[in-house]
Amino acid sequence: MAQHKARKRFGQNFLTDQSIPEAIVRAIHPESSDTIVEIGPGLSALTNPLLERVDHLRVVEIDRDLAARLRHHYSPKRLTVIEADALTVDFSQFGQGVRIVGNLPYNISSPLLFHLMESADYVRDQHFMLQKEVIDRMVAKPGDSDYGRLSVMLQTRYKMYSLFDVPPECFDPPPKVMSSVVRMIPLGADRPVAQDPVMFARLVTQAFAQRRKMLRGSLKDWQINWQALGIPETARAEELSVMDFIRMSDFCSQQKS
Ligand code: SAM
Repeated sequence: MAQHKARKRFGQNFLTDQSIPEAIVRAIHPESSDTIVEIGPGLSALTNPLLERVDHLRVVEIDRDLAARLRHHYSPKRLTVIEADALTVDFSQFGQGVRIVGNLPYNISSPLLFHLMESADYVRDQHFMLQKEVIDRMVAKPGDSDYGRLSVMLQTRYKMYSLFDVPPECFDPPPKVMSSVVRMIPLGADRPVAQDPVMFARLVTQAFAQRRKMLRGSLKDWQINWQALGIPETARAEELSVMDFIRMSDFCSQQKS
């Protein structure tokens, strides 16, 4: 097909260094019968090496021209092209054990990660390329400078590993930032879950809105009994574990009921 001009609005930075998709596919370690869904196949940098290993692949691509190109190049027996905005796709439709992969459009990375959380019960694992800065926040631990809302929210649902970094020159056009690859494995049914997930999300957001402020100040409307929870009232959001946030949230939901 004729040259494709990268569309900024779709976060298009195409991988040109073929060693990177190979490294991602090695990390995924696909079996031929795996159900794999790739988000944002673009010009097939990752699609091709995946198709060398699996019998069938599904891709979700928002760009009509790129979706048409994929349909033209591959038989529907090997590749199902879903022309859609990944933010509107219900990933549970692919069934239990689906593996999701992609060099994600960086402009929608956070909303997409939160959208995928809704189908996490169906997912075996996710391997994504994202801005390194976002992956650093996803895997950060209490006390790390990158620890924040994204870390706490995603760590309630996934175990995550930052695998390797990818510099801008591996793409065309090169992004302005460094990239990394992350592995995300959904936690099982025995994971700690807040009694009221909506309240939990509000609490975490408010606690990190002023991350350097002491919690007794940033959460003063929540009337939390710090002593009962064994959390010093001088603590700051960035020092608390995921479990501390769940306990705080559960304390508040019990007060309400
Ligand atoms: N996988 C290719 C590669 O590695 O070279 C392309 C990666 S590029 C960073 C992101 C891809 O996601 C583009 O193909 C873009 O059109 C697609 N995309 C952007 N927004 C999307 C969305 N909301 N839903 C599905 N695909 C999207």
